[in-house]
Amino acid sequence: MMQLFIPLNFLGFVYREIRGALANIERMFDIMANVPQVEDRDDASSLSPTVGVIKFDDVSFQYDKRPILNKVSFEVPAGKKIAVVGDSGAGKSTIIKLLFRFYDVNSGAITIDGIDVRQLTQLALRKAIAVVPQDTVLFNDSIYENIRYGRPDATEDEIKQATQLAHLSDFIDSLPDKGDTKVGERGLKLSGGEKQRVAIARAVLKGAPILVFDEATSSLDSHSEQAILSALRDAAKGHTSLVVAHRLSTIIDADEIVVLSRGSIVEHGTHASLLAQQGLYARLWHIQHEQSDSAKANID
Ligand code: ATP
Repeated sequence: MMQLFIPLNFLGFVYREIRGALANIERMFDIMANVPQVEDRDDASSLSPTVGVIKFDDVSFQYDKRPILNKVSFEVPAGKKIAVVGDSGAGKSTIIKLLFRFYDVNSGAITIDGIDVRQLTQLALRKAIAVVPQDTVLFNDSIYENIRYGRPDATEDEIKQATQLAHLSDFIDSLPDKGDTKVGERGLKLSGGEKQRVAIARAVLKGAPILVFDEATSSLDSHSEQAILSALRDAAKGHTSLVVAHRLSTIIDADEIVVLSRGSIVEHGTHASLLAQQGLYARLWHIQHEQSDSAKANID
């Protein structure tokens, strides 16, 4: 009986491993299927930008002939943090997709360190940008392995440094198997805020000059939001960062805030100067504050 049990047990193990691996591969294909194909030009440079100055110069873009961005111009100097805010559907995530060259602009140009993104190989371009997406893809592996995905040849020390910057160390220390703890299918064993901090650690580990943060729309409790905010602040040090924000409290400290409305920039400036303008940003700010005040009142 024992002789039969061991091989069956082993087969069960192999089956689970293969099923896990297939699930991960499937997910990779899901991601790739969502990435539209743009071609590298024959003369594209494979030298990845290292400084990280981003410039959108009069960029217009349509999805299937539907105008989405209209003559958008802004610049993010090296090491600075710029935030893009605006109503749902204003075109915020599209800005990130264009920076990443998932699509080509219809007119205008996007440059990094003065080089048009169409003049770079996709590999060189993507090496320069680390993204923390809205919905992070986590594999059913350990937390450390999920972070290592940012740079497969990273050492354990480098991974630990990234977890510190992402304010994950205390959480990891509280787990039974520390960093070797499995995150479950699609990271189900982690909260939304923890998942985003794993994504921040992964992005930091990549070591790219540009950090892009696409804030999750789902609401977080204020503790998780504060943890992400601190993680983001530390992770952004030494990087040029572009943040797409839904909660304006996330981007008060941005060097520049760009306010998009129906694909056009209608205002830009710091948090204080935008509040003083009493325009769209100030309205969005007051609406969000009234909502959070009434949510607090409901709890009290
Ligand atoms: P949200 O705050 O809701 O995330 P957003 O400002 O990030 O919105 P985008 O995701 O940039 O908005 O979308 C801008 C517009 O482009 C929306 O009207 C959206 O429906 C449309 N859109 C987005 N992706 C595609 C696509 N792949 N094909 C066609 N239209 C799209």
